[in-house]
Amino acid sequence: MLNSSIRYQDHTLFCDGVPLKDIVAITGTPVYIYSFKRVLENYERIRTAFAALKPHIHYSAKANANLSLLKTLIQAGAGIDAVSAGEIHRALQAGAAPDSIVFAGVGKTPNELAYALEQGIGWINVENIGELQLINEITKALHREPAQVALRFNPDITANTHPHIATGHGGAKFGLTAETIRDILENQERYPHVHLAGIHLHIGSQLHDTDATRQAVQAALDLIAPHPAIRTVNIGGGLPVAYRPDDTLPSLGQFAETLTPLLKDYTVMLEPGRSIVADAGLLVVSIIYVKKQAGQAFLITDGSMTELIRPALYQAHHEIVPVMTGSHEHKPLSPVNVVGPVCETTDVLGKQVSLPEMFPGELLAILTAGAYGMVMASNYNARPRPPEAAVLPDGRTWRMIRRRETWDDLLAQDEMV
Ligand SMILES: *Cc1c(COP(=O)(O)O)cnc(C)c1O
Repeated sequence: MLNSSIRYQDHTLFCDGVPLKDIVAITGTPVYIYSFKRVLENYERIRTAFAALKPHIHYSAKANANLSLLKTLIQAGAGIDAVSAGEIHRALQAGAAPDSIVFAGVGKTPNELAYALEQGIGWINVENIGELQLINEITKALHREPAQVALRFNPDITANTHPHIATGHGGAKFGLTAETIRDILENQERYPHVHLAGIHLHIGSQLHDTDATRQAVQAALDLIAPHPAIRTVNIGGGLPVAYRPDDTLPSLGQFAETLTPLLKDYTVMLEPGRSIVADAGLLVVSIIYVKKQAGQAFLITDGSMTELIRPALYQAHHEIVPVMTGSHEHKPLSPVNVVGPVCETTDVLGKQVSLPEMFPGELLAILTAGAYGMVMASNYNARPRPPEAAVLPDGRTWRMIRRRETWDDLLAQDEMV
């Protein structure tokens, strides 16, 4: 959606001080464009809202792991939340200090754990007993100081969010039950090479309900209350982002106000992803064809589910707007389906989008696409993944931060036998 960085000026959509059409003239379409100014402002907004808790903010790299983006946030003081050894590697390449990295994830392999421990990662969020035993063995074998471990608690609370992104209910694969956590904490001598130092919870993305979050955090605090050595509470990510103009969501201030009284005596960690990058990014596509059939109108674009899978994967909604509105002033709006060229019926970017009559060659911007966009892009249908461009924090300079893949890139891993 539009905001202080992604906005119209003179009938032209801008990213900060740069008209999108200027970027597209160099990069072509489809292309992801990000405002690093907006990224940093979002980071600061979270820091300010939770200031009373002096939280350690670990940006969740899985939302958007571009190296320049990671570097920008790391230089602003963020740590990184990684969910694979690959993400740890990216974070280190982008300049993260090893001890500012948190390693989370439901199925860390022995190789990934060994890599994380060898690199001296700050924290590991543990999601099962087997993993705890592995960390104990690997740390012993490496003769290293134990890494700090936080136990990921599954509070068995149903977050009011899309079922595909809820993670805190009892039936989900994530986290440890209260009973298991009590057992681990009461028998810490079983893990002499593990430093049990925190509790972690992440009950889902797009949290809508501060009260459910409060209950989950309270349940976590009840679990660690008998163990005063546990001083760190990592409350995960999930801070919501508006994708529609009429979305009503709790504000950062409301989350902070709800949680601050509970957490004021603890060291607090946060792992925001979406709330830092989603509204700082968009995907620009070109219209290839206009088609009307069976009472439906279609804009067929050069962007598809291979660039942005969220609509196909979880019926996510993204606002779609023309990049240039000059010739469309005062024209009537009518509903069209914005679709891609991929051979799947679900290859839809927007259903029944209200747009003026548009023509081949015109540009559309798919808004709020900075998070879970490029990271989920695929090469299905042998489509090269798109480039990424960023307007730097000065608001005037823009740079390519990843080039478009080539057909050669797509062939590079194949062996012809
Ligand atoms: C995905 C994830 C996050 C980030 O979630 P957002 O909704 O993008 O803020 C944080 N922590 C963990 C453990 C995650 O899996």
